[in-house]
Amino acid sequence: MDTQFEGQVALITGGTSGIGRATAEALRARGAEVHVCDFKARAEAELALQAQGISISQCDVRDVTALKLWIDSVAQSSGRIDILVNNAGIGLVKQCPDVTESEWDAVIDTNLKAAFFACGAAIPHMRQSGGGSIINIASNAGLLPRAHDPVYSISKLALVGLTKSLALSQSPDRIRVNAICPGPVKGTEIIEAELALHPDYAAAVKRFIAASPMAQAYGRMITIEEVAQTVCYLASPAAQFVTGTSIAIDGGKSLGVPPVA
Ligand code: NAD
Repeated sequence: MDTQFEGQVALITGGTSGIGRATAEALRARGAEVHVCDFKARAEAELALQAQGISISQCDVRDVTALKLWIDSVAQSSGRIDILVNNAGIGLVKQCPDVTESEWDAVIDTNLKAAFFACGAAIPHMRQSGGGSIINIASNAGLLPRAHDPVYSISKLALVGLTKSLALSQSPDRIRVNAICPGPVKGTEIIEAELALHPDYAAAVKRFIAASPMAQAYGRMITIEEVAQTVCYLASPAAQFVTGTSIAIDGGKSLGVPPVA
């Protein structure tokens, strides 16, 4: 095992699927003590993560009391918190007039409110450890809002704003706050659910690829491992002066209109 993060304690929300799971495995493989929470039970993934020494807790991040309890209990048992990855997220492909109040609440509470209160719970522990790194998994939609999912776009734009605001206010305590803004990532439940809305799966994948110049060039979508590696970079001392940024992993999708395929 790599020892890059040995002695460091990392927490990841929504850690038993997709990007969260890949991130948990990547940080663990580099020596971190890793704790994940999720609200869904996934027996196979949980067994695989536990076999790597990753601890799993049941927690719905929309319940900020339960979220704080989980973070405080890890800090108490492990003695410190160094890395927090606010990863839990849900999508909503629906237009403004059709969105119900409970759908709005579910998306905003999961993608935005939970990240804010997880930061609030983790920051005092990071302060005690002499600093820390918070990484918010935002989205391409956090850089450029999209027509098809306004509430999701709003939640991720606000998460990018949260990242900048907390980066400013927490810097005296050497706590860095950054965001990652991926384009469509394969191997995630969120993107599979979106693809399932299209009658022609292969054509929908092609459309995702066509929207990003680098995805076009390589003929593939972004992988969960590529996002996890960027989390590892942002959590590492190599990124000691990197704070408040939003790193796009989208093959240039957010730059503008891609070349015609
Ligand atoms: P995913 O659906 O595979 O993983 C999301 C995880 O969050 C799941 O494990 C899910 O159970 C968990 N989760 C959702 N609501 C929760 C809650 N209330 N409490 C606890 N856990 C909860 O999809 P993913 O792509 O790995 O999603 C991770 C993050 O990446 C999300 O924030 C998502 O918005 C973001 N993202 C994904 C893509 C993509 O293309 N997949 C692109 C940009 C951003």
